[in-house]
Amino acid sequence: MFASVVVDVPTQQTDRLYDYEVPESWEALVQPGMRVLVPFGPRKIQGMVLAIKASTDVLKTKPLIALLDLTPVLTEELLAIGKWLSNETMCFLITAYQAMLPSALKSTYSKKLVLADGRLPSDLPEELQVFYKNQRAVLWDDVESNLQTMKSVKLALEEGWIDVLYEAKDQTSIKHVKWVTLKQSLTEALASLAANAVRQREAIQLLASHKDGLALSVLSQRSNAGYSSLNKLVEKGIFHLEERELYREPYELMESTSTPLDLTEEQAAVLESIVSATDQSSATTFLLHGITGSGKTEVYLQAIDNALKQDKQAIVLVPEISLTPMMVDRFKKRFGSKVAVLHSALSKGERYDEWRKIHRKEVTVAVGARSAIFAPFDRLGIVIIDEEHETSYKQEEHPRYHARDVAIKRAAFHKCPVVLGSATPSLESRARAQKKRYHYVQLEKRIGKQSYPEVTIADMRDELKAGNRSMFSRQLMDALTETISRGEQAVLFLNRRGFSTFVMCRDCGYVLQCPHCDISLTYHKHHHAMKCHYCGHQEPLPRACPKCESEHIRFFGTGTQKVEEELLKLLPDIRILRMDVDTTKRKGSHAKLLDAFEAHEADVLLGTQMIAKGLDFRKVTFVGVLAAETMLHLPDFRAAEKTFQLLTQVSGRAGRHELPGQVVIQTYTPEHYSIMLSASHDYAGFYKQEMQFRKLSQYPPFYYLALVTITHEDLMECAKEAEKIARHLSQELSDEAILLGPVASPIPKIKDRFRYQCMIKYKDEPKLQPALKQIMALYAERIQKKELQVLIDMQPYSML
Ligand code: ADP
Ligand code: ZN
Ligand code: ZN
Repeated sequence: MFASVVVDVPTQQTDRLYDYEVPESWEALVQPGMRVLVPFGPRKIQGMVLAIKASTDVLKTKPLIALLDLTPVLTEELLAIGKWLSNETMCFLITAYQAMLPSALKSTYSKKLVLADGRLPSDLPEELQVFYKNQRAVLWDDVESNLQTMKSVKLALEEGWIDVLYEAKDQTSIKHVKWVTLKQSLTEALASLAANAVRQREAIQLLASHKDGLALSVLSQRSNAGYSSLNKLVEKGIFHLEERELYREPYELMESTSTPLDLTEEQAAVLESIVSATDQSSATTFLLHGITGSGKTEVYLQAIDNALKQDKQAIVLVPEISLTPMMVDRFKKRFGSKVAVLHSALSKGERYDEWRKIHRKEVTVAVGARSAIFAPFDRLGIVIIDEEHETSYKQEEHPRYHARDVAIKRAAFHKCPVVLGSATPSLESRARAQKKRYHYVQLEKRIGKQSYPEVTIADMRDELKAGNRSMFSRQLMDALTETISRGEQAVLFLNRRGFSTFVMCRDCGYVLQCPHCDISLTYHKHHHAMKCHYCGHQEPLPRACPKCESEHIRFFGTGTQKVEEELLKLLPDIRILRMDVDTTKRKGSHAKLLDAFEAHEADVLLGTQMIAKGLDFRKVTFVGVLAAETMLHLPDFRAAEKTFQLLTQVSGRAGRHELPGQVVIQTYTPEHYSIMLSASHDYAGFYKQEMQFRKLSQYPPFYYLALVTITHEDLMECAKEAEKIARHLSQELSDEAILLGPVASPIPKIKDRFRYQCMIKYKDEPKLQPALKQIMALYAERIQKKELQVLIDMQPYSML
């Protein structure tokens, strides 16, 4: 028997399958999706088994050195997804598989075979019985070389007599805990107690309400019964005691405490269509367009509930989980211990624990950021992507995948629906819904009494003319002081992305644009010049505004700290909570700040992008946006879309409950459609206008994009190779494709490497992928020597 293995050496030359001989004793065990240790040249390295076969064309094969898993860590489905991913995103196969697994799996583990119930099953084959004479755990290494024993191991695993325990040889080790469950019925157990055994009684009652049992220490603590009296209950046969693996629970173990709400008519209609897709095993992609506060989450919850009732599983993606703790809580509250939470703020060990719960089918709901889309479920009933327009769903390093694409691919396999939810759908998704590729469903009413908050645009040019030189408009100051005097709370949002890279006229709001690309120019300190990052156009920094000739033309941007200082000068008595990268560095500080604000320990929450999402505070009735346009002038064709989405999202934080909300948006470009239309809550209008721009300027969703970035330590070499690549591409591609560049990248030098880029806009270009692969092959050696780098980003989201 032979195993086809992809080895853990991410290079062009090794991006293929290698055949290894499977030692006879492992034949019954080895399966695709298991990690193995293989000889590779002089080294021993890890690999992933992709296939098992009876023969091989390779003349001389070497045997596998070790099996690292006893049950596959990747399903056949995920193995196939990996192949698709490596093809679509142009990454190495092994890189795709690594992205699917928790990083803790990269460390080495010793394996033990433990008796599942802590006792010896009578059916356990003889040759395995002997190993368990004096112990409940047998080292894998002791049995792996014997063929007959290994066959028994396989049988025993399938029967559930034994379990595999992985013990990490490093810090992420698995913890154990003494665990008790009630063996008898409550009445039976209580009947055998002495009348004065108050604490034991309490312990029994407590345990009766926890079907899965409790840790002995927890039971003791909660019932005030000592260990010795609890042990007596074990001896009497009332409690069952065992050793259990303890998961490092990053969230409090929660009982389900929320129940389904009665849906509004709108919600019920949307739920109905999603539920019927799950019921009919239909791989429909829904675009759920629901304004903020329209009750999307409740629809998600009930759609998941329906899938779970059919013994299926669910994946929920949220943009950046550490920024959306309230969202995670809602899933935990509804589904309790059925939920695993996967996100990057967890430690390696915690993440691994959560992943293991999914792998062992101990949970049926996975909630997490982007990579949770790879949760190794085998019976998916629904996938939900909340805030589907968020760009964090696109990974910016290899594999450069978009979670939405993976979700749709997985759903096709499992024949289940995908729900893309947003108040401001991405243009791509909205356009697909228009073309009926996605099924469009809408929630148009806010739950509760409140309609949209009232939005005022404060024109900062007028403020300047009126002699107000502060960073706060009069409208904002008035609304803020009134809100606070009413005993309500305010959120101040500072949009910091694109900080001081663009140049704007303070008098008329004019921003320098590239004459060829419809994109704002970026200031380069080095050359003291304005540059276009798409086509390379360059011009000197103007002394006066080309439009109104004012000399007040300068960089734009301020920090949150500055805002705080300025605000305190004007209103010395207000209490401000500042939330930005500086104040949230430590683990848990984010949640602490939010709790403090919820408890009304401050009047104002001041922050950056971090506070735009998912926050829901009863007393917040005013939202102020400082500098609405900072993002508008990034060298990115999605700038208007991002601005519209962000402003809509931020405004949605005001007046979500009983009290009416008010919003002030400060800007120097009040006439920009993204700002005007977000103030009038007009998504449809925005969609129409932005689609026109995209069509005219040939961007997605009318064209696909590929971004090729070339880096080299030497500027001349970099430019030369970029030129060659561009020439090669232009020879291969059809006349319909548009090739831009090569030009220096928006960030022209990173870590002493120069960067050039080519952008390809295309509609249908079957020769593009092969051409890009040829380029990669051509440069394979130089890439491996790290002399030259060629980075390919299909459908890029980060233009920098
Ligand atoms: P969205 O996710 O669309 O922003 P939410 O699901 O957060 O909206 O709903 C807004 C608020 O309305 C939440 O506090 C939620 O608990 C509540 N809510 C949702 N659906 C209902 C319902 N059918 N009946 C009563 N309250 C609801
Ligand atoms: Zn001007
Ligand atoms: Zn340009």
